[in-house]
Amino acid sequence: MDPRRGPAARTAPKAGAAAPKASAQGGRGALTEPDVSPAVPAAARPRAQSGEPARAPGSLRKKSAPGPRERPPRRAQSARAGQEPSSAAGAAGPAGAAGPAEGPALSRAGSRRERGARSAETARPQPGPAELGGVGPLVPAPSLGRRGAPPGAWEPRAVLEKLRLSRQEVSAAAEVVNRVVDHLLQRLQRRESEFRGVALLHTGSYYERVKISAPNEFDVMFKLEVPRIELEEYCNSGAHYFVKFKRNPKGNPLSQFLEEEILSASKMLSKFRKIIKEEIKHIEDTDVIVERKRRGSPAVTLLIRKPKEISVDIILALESKSSWPASTKEGLPINNWLGTKVKNSLRRQPFYLVPKHAKEGNGFQEETWRLSFSHIEKDILKNHGQSKTCCETHGVKCCRKDCLKLMKYLLEQLKKKFGNRKELDKFCSYHVKTAFFHVCTQDPHDSQWHSNDLESCFDNCVTYFLHCLKTERLEHYFIPGVNLFSQDQIEKISKEFLSKQIEYERNNGFPVFGEF
Ligand SMILES: [Zn+2]
Repeated sequence: MDPRRGPAARTAPKAGAAAPKASAQGGRGALTEPDVSPAVPAAARPRAQSGEPARAPGSLRKKSAPGPRERPPRRAQSARAGQEPSSAAGAAGPAGAAGPAEGPALSRAGSRRERGARSAETARPQPGPAELGGVGPLVPAPSLGRRGAPPGAWEPRAVLEKLRLSRQEVSAAAEVVNRVVDHLLQRLQRRESEFRGVALLHTGSYYERVKISAPNEFDVMFKLEVPRIELEEYCNSGAHYFVKFKRNPKGNPLSQFLEEEILSASKMLSKFRKIIKEEIKHIEDTDVIVERKRRGSPAVTLLIRKPKEISVDIILALESKSSWPASTKEGLPINNWLGTKVKNSLRRQPFYLVPKHAKEGNGFQEETWRLSFSHIEKDILKNHGQSKTCCETHGVKCCRKDCLKLMKYLLEQLKKKFGNRKELDKFCSYHVKTAFFHVCTQDPHDSQWHSNDLESCFDNCVTYFLHCLKTERLEHYFIPGVNLFSQDQIEKISKEFLSKQIEYERNNGFPVFGEF
């Protein structure tokens, strides 16, 4: 039968019992890390991005990048808690976007259709109002505030310094991870392997040097070039695709994964997993196991148990050197920030597809692949200034990356604080990162990010993110039709909960930065 027709049930039968991980996953290493010493070996990248959210409200999609005037929500002094900036973001379309790897699920924005039934995986009991109430007394915690400073004052530099301390820890963990990853790569690259073309793709917070914490969680992408593929967009999703080969030459090691001409993501992932599982047994100097399959996750997760616990998500990504899909045409709004030339050259880079199912009715379409642009994200974070010398030794220092680290840390800490609550499950660092990129689009000039202005720049980022939560709109940075904060993706009550927590933090000098 045509895999595309499969009832939703074509869903992971075998995955069976695996717990829905999508959410948990997102949460996981949402942090970034401060600069990781470059000395660290190759592969590992601390996990950081999980979902990818979409464009900020304010920056409502105009064809071209918004001019400096059009900036969205800039927080008015008076609007401290609560009021929404009136930059109406219009109707929130559902859209989820594709994260590099495990991003949040994506759905297409703009489409009004509600998907009626919520998948079993996402269906959760609605929390009663009471549950949302108990946020605790609004008493500021002491921690990182300035001494003698008024309540609400805090010291961002001190927080960043604290984050920097984990660098060494990350480097040590990365060495262990790299050893394991190298071993697996070598095995996969053997001649008889279907995956012999794999290579490491250096993306992720670790390489972006914005990993802030979670030294025990890493993401690693294995890319596999697949020549001459053809994409068929899944249900106008913008982010999910079926993959076919234009021709199916004999000898293509991937032909065994075809099902009615469609390259089966589930089959391919199963085999990938199987090989890794077998090979892991041959790694002698490290105690490592493969974790149970998590439904909906594009990753094979390793758990290194000694010398310390480290979890590593290995994600298989197909690499296509064709031009980017049409759904990305209006994406990557960096014209006024990094410039059109940079944009054009980035768009000539390959793009990636990770095995990630799309929602389909009450289940999932298991054979789809989702777009990933983590390599581009890495690139623009690295070369983030309007001036080429921004943050170089002799250049002016900006605070863009520091803002991103703080934003990631904020979400990570809130997730820790409310670890047992489901409201924050679906939020991941990819949402934060996407919002951050939109703020960069909105404030394209280096002078708007002077390092002396860290506190107010961070405040702008927080404001923007709050605006996205309130308007339920966060456009995917590369696929503007996808709204990562659509109702489909994240329930309103969760967005309200997170808004409330962030506002509390902001009004009290971010006590959560000093906790845990
Ligand atoms: Zn800079």
